[in-house]
Amino acid sequence: MEIKKLKFRKDSIQKSRLYVQIAFALLCIWIGIEMYLFIGFLESGGSGTFYQRPPGVDGFLPIGSLMSTFLFIKTGFIHNAHPAGVFIFLGIFLVSLLFGKSFCSWLCPVGFLSEILGDLGEKLFGRKIKIPKFLDYPLRSLKYLLLVFFLYSIFVAMSDTAIRVFLDSDYNKVADIKMYYFFADISRFSLIVLAILFFLSIPFRGFWCRYLCPYGAFLGIASLLSPNKIQRNAQSCTDCGLCTKVCPSNIKVHKLKTVISDECTSCLTCVDVCPVKDTLSLNTLVVKKKFNKKYLAAAIVGIFMLVTGIGIITGKWQSNISKEEYLYHQPLLPTYGHPTDSKGLKELDEKEKEVR
Ligand code: SF4
Ligand code: SF4
Repeated sequence: MEIKKLKFRKDSIQKSRLYVQIAFALLCIWIGIEMYLFIGFLESGGSGTFYQRPPGVDGFLPIGSLMSTFLFIKTGFIHNAHPAGVFIFLGIFLVSLLFGKSFCSWLCPVGFLSEILGDLGEKLFGRKIKIPKFLDYPLRSLKYLLLVFFLYSIFVAMSDTAIRVFLDSDYNKVADIKMYYFFADISRFSLIVLAILFFLSIPFRGFWCRYLCPYGAFLGIASLLSPNKIQRNAQSCTDCGLCTKVCPSNIKVHKLKTVISDECTSCLTCVDVCPVKDTLSLNTLVVKKKFNKKYLAAAIVGIFMLVTGIGIITGKWQSNISKEEYLYHQPLLPTYGHPTDSKGLKELDEKEKEVR
């Protein structure tokens, strides 16, 4: 399928989407720089300049955030290790519940990178390369298998007490620092895996997102409940197929009346290329009204900011782990076992028994 230069409608919102993506990518880079400065302070043993740990880093700990959110919903208590993760998780979930899997194409920095690589691939190969259907379906199920594995490990294999014990564990307290070192001191194996995923995303648009991201799988399921969906007016549609051609999620938009798909990311690329006015639109199904797309950027960013803002205003955003405690943990980091390895599981078991 050859890709000619895309011609967007005059009222296209793709520029605002790009600005939002750039802003969130810059925010993530800023969080990375703050984390680097904070770790520098820890590595100096407390003798260097003190930099605050950026709470936004909690958003990069989805498993811990999911556990904390679960605990919060059950007890109303927000665990103090990575509290910002709860608000970030809830913000992302709410955005997906209202506007489909829009987090992936509007806010997620990995989604943004995948899009850049996909565009590069289409420029290099002059066309969109699709994985054959007989491989695409089983590969797409991988992210759901990963999601089931994580959900099973948390909600079935672990009791409420075990979740609490895990959240209280030293491992969880320093999970952000461990993650930092995972990338800063990356092993050869991890580097090779990341490089493979990176290069596969060039010919196969969104390889990681489409096949492997369990977070995307979770949001995809939530998105099915979204009241806002892309709809096609079959009467005015000329069947030109442009919408299907440009859809990054390979959805056959020109064949559907309503796009109900776990893969639709509400990027509105299809809406913005459709040459016939009012043929494709984002509609709010419950009230049977068109959602004015020029408000979509504000709605997505606004909901996310509102939920995370509640965390900031209520004083629940910052972790209350003191810098002295971080300094204590810093030299001990290599001794903290991951809860899924045998050492970590044994520790978790022992602590759970103590709590009981
Ligand atoms: S159906 Fe439209 S909004 Fe959904 S992913 Fe495809 S192009 Fe984007
Ligand atoms: S781009 Fe518009 S006119 Fe063309 S097939 Fe899609 S909905 Fe129909």
